[in-house]
Formats: sequence, C-alpha cells, structure tokens
Amino acid sequence: MKLIFFGPPGAGKGTIAQQILNKYKIIQISTGDMFRENIKNQTEIGVTAKEYIDKGELVPDEVTITMLKNRIENDDCKNGFILDGFPRNIPQAQALDNSDVEIDRVIYFTVPADLIIHRLSGRRSCKQCNKVYNINPDGFPNPKVENKCDVCNIDLFQRADDIPATIKDRLDIYREQTEPLAEYYEKQGKLKKVNADGEIQRIIDDTINAIEN
Ligand SMILES: [Zn+2]
Repeated sequence: MKLIFFGPPGAGKGTIAQQILNKYKIIQISTGDMFRENIKNQTEIGVTAKEYIDKGELVPDEVTITMLKNRIENDDCKNGFILDGFPRNIPQAQALDNSDVEIDRVIYFTVPADLIIHRLSGRRSCKQCNKVYNINPDGFPNPKVENKCDVCNIDLFQRADDIPATIKDRLDIYREQTEPLAEYYEKQGKLKKVNADGEIQRIIDDTINAIEN
C-alpha cells in the first residue's frame, strides 16, 4: 500500500496517518522528519538541505528525491508507506512518476481556510521525540499535561513554521504550488478526497474508506 497524503498545512494529515499505520503495517514518511533526521545525523544531504531550510527556502527536488529513495529502501517500508509532505508541487510529482516509486492512491484532505489558521496556531512540538500536539481545546491530540510532551515530559515548543506570521506564507505557497496536485492525480485516476473538517473518528473512517474503495 503506497500512499500519498496531501492537503493544506493544518489539515491533520500526520495525525490521521498515525491512526491508520498499524492497520496496514506500513510507515509514515514525513519529509519534515526525514530532513530533521538527516540534519541531526549531519549526513551530506542533510547539511545541504539545512542551508535551504535556514534561509526559509524550499529544498531542491533532487535533494528530497534522493533522501526519499534512500528511506524507501529500508526494510520497514516493505509493506508500503504514506508520504506526508511530498510531493509538494507538480515538478516533484513528475519526478516521482519518473522514479521507480509506484504510488497506489493519493488522499486529498480538504479544510476551510479559516480553520487552517486556527489549527496551525495551536500546534506545538516536542524537541526530543518530534511528536506534534495541538493545545487548542478542540485540537487533537491535546497533551495530557498542559504544554508537556506525554512521552518525554519536557516543555513543548512552537516551530518557526507554525508562528502566525509564517502561516500566511505557507498557505500562499500551498495554493500556488501544492493544490494543483489534486488535478494532476485526478487525471491519473488516483485521487480520493476526504473532508478533514470534523470529528477525528469520522475522518479516520473516511480515510480508510478512501484507501480501500
Ligand atoms: Zn517527546
């Protein structure tokens, strides 16, 4: 089962992915985590990627594709994977089509714009384990103790990406570059839409339905 999850920032793709991984014995490949891992281990490609990220620029496609192909070769990907955060634009989707990575289905999560900003501004992350929380009362998952990671019990922090001033830029980039993927994969007959506004269990059920039907 080789899947792409895409949708606007704040659609909850990562959270939904976490809820269905066990069901299919697959893993989630978040390009953000993949970058952080490579940067932390100071791999050659991680160092290159960091220069772009520090400048707030998108990492060139060939860097991301190389990183991704290395990752997919791991044994834990043998049952499949969910790509989260890649491809982000048409050239990346074309590059993926031209690589030997076969994608079965693309799940497109849709959310109204005003909700996106509300959700993103509540996001907090753990520096140690990278788990992402949402501190809004209607957010998911809330940390069990206010502003502490459930696992590591250390203070959560707000990523530069999730600061309100940055959110608008991310949304503009999303609309210009990422949203056209819906039409691209629709033409390939791989696209399934899921309404990501609402109750978490309903969104999970719809996602499973989209994967299997
Ligand atoms: Zn943690």
